Amino acid sequence: MKKKTIKDVDLAGKRVLMRVDFNVPIKDGEVSDDTRIRGALPTIEYAAGEGAKVILVSHLGRPADKPDQAFSLRPVRKRLSQLLAEEVAFADDCIGEEANAAVSKLSDGKVLLLENVRFHPGEKKNDPEFARQLALLADVYVNDAFGTAHRAHASTAGITQFVGECVAGLLMERELEVLGKVLTNPERPFVAILGGAKVSDKLPVIKSLIEKKVDKLLIGGAMAYTFFKALGYTVGKSLVEDDMLSKALELKSEAEKAGIQLLLPTDHQVVDSFDPLNSRKTIPIDFTNSGLVGLDIGDETVQIFSEALKGAKTIVWNGPMGMFEEKPFDEGTFAIAEAVAEATDNGAFSVVGGGDSVAAINEAGLADRVSHISTGGGATLEFLSGIELPGVAALDDA
Ligand code: ADP
Ligand code: MG
Repeated sequence: MKKKTIKDVDLAGKRVLMRVDFNVPIKDGEVSDDTRIRGALPTIEYAAGEGAKVILVSHLGRPADKPDQAFSLRPVRKRLSQLLAEEVAFADDCIGEEANAAVSKLSDGKVLLLENVRFHPGEKKNDPEFARQLALLADVYVNDAFGTAHRAHASTAGITQFVGECVAGLLMERELEVLGKVLTNPERPFVAILGGAKVSDKLPVIKSLIEKKVDKLLIGGAMAYTFFKALGYTVGKSLVEDDMLSKALELKSEAEKAGIQLLLPTDHQVVDSFDPLNSRKTIPIDFTNSGLVGLDIGDETVQIFSEALKGAKTIVWNGPMGMFEEKPFDEGTFAIAEAVAEATDNGAFSVVGGGDSVAAINEAGLADRVSHISTGGGATLEFLSGIELPGVAALDDA
């Protein structure tokens, strides 16, 4: 269902409560990575430009349901003020007198940031009374925090019961458009690359992609070993989920029944579990013995996967191909990132999602050579699994 967006409503002179994702890393009282703040700027600037009183609400980290200065949004206020080149107002509480007073002082076109919404236990409990108090600040509610849309919290879901107009922000709109198109109307050939640690984490996504009849499904990362073990290969000390073996076989046969080409690695980089620092080598999968640990895909697999990506018109990638946090086991992931970038240069629409996968594409320096980097970790995976996100469902239909 298409959702109303911020472009569909009149904002001039309105109090616009905007749920943003300012859950950024803080080091020594400063924002150490402002990517998410910069991501929200277009929606904030649009609303301010339309003459709205822009009231921003966000969580930061995991405070224990009470005020804790370690999780204050004050450093974000400082960074946001720099980015907007104007002083952003701040309220030490997101509801009550403090918040009300700050909102009534706010002029049209100006921006106010409220303190961490998770300082109140009502946020995560989606407590209706807390949601109602937040709603008292708003004429219009805008959700631009795709990354928390899979959580039914007061500021992402409950609040919409109490505000007349509830719409998607520009970031949210783009996520819904891109991910929605990939799921409902992808250009083909459609190739999905899945990796990461666990089949169990990705089961709903794999199932959904099989249902959507992707043309090719490339499986790498530790996840591949669960498939290999299920198929009777020796996987040594590689990461395997023993309770997922039958599921893996089931997925493989479902994929085959659907006519999907399912590719698993043919070789991998392994180390000896007794001498991990000095024993790295690349071997075919079926040469694996009981003492070895597989930590990355091998060169031959990189070639086969890269070849499979050529000519793709839609690519979805979630999950690193190896233990990319440990050099040199980032090589396989980076090589696939390059192949995705090249396929994109040649006309594919590519989407990368998942916390670690997005970190990997950023580290590879290839973020601007893919079509869309999805900002949600869990939210992206749930969306791609075909699950309706509560924070999206709660918005007004277009
Ligand atoms: P995302 O966050 O993009 O959804 P995941 O969280 O599913 O990705 O997977 C990322 C994790 O998988 C990383 O921590 C990475 O080290 C791990 N991983 C990938 N391949 C292997 C492997 N062969 N052995 C151990 N860990 C692996
Ligand atoms: Mg992860």
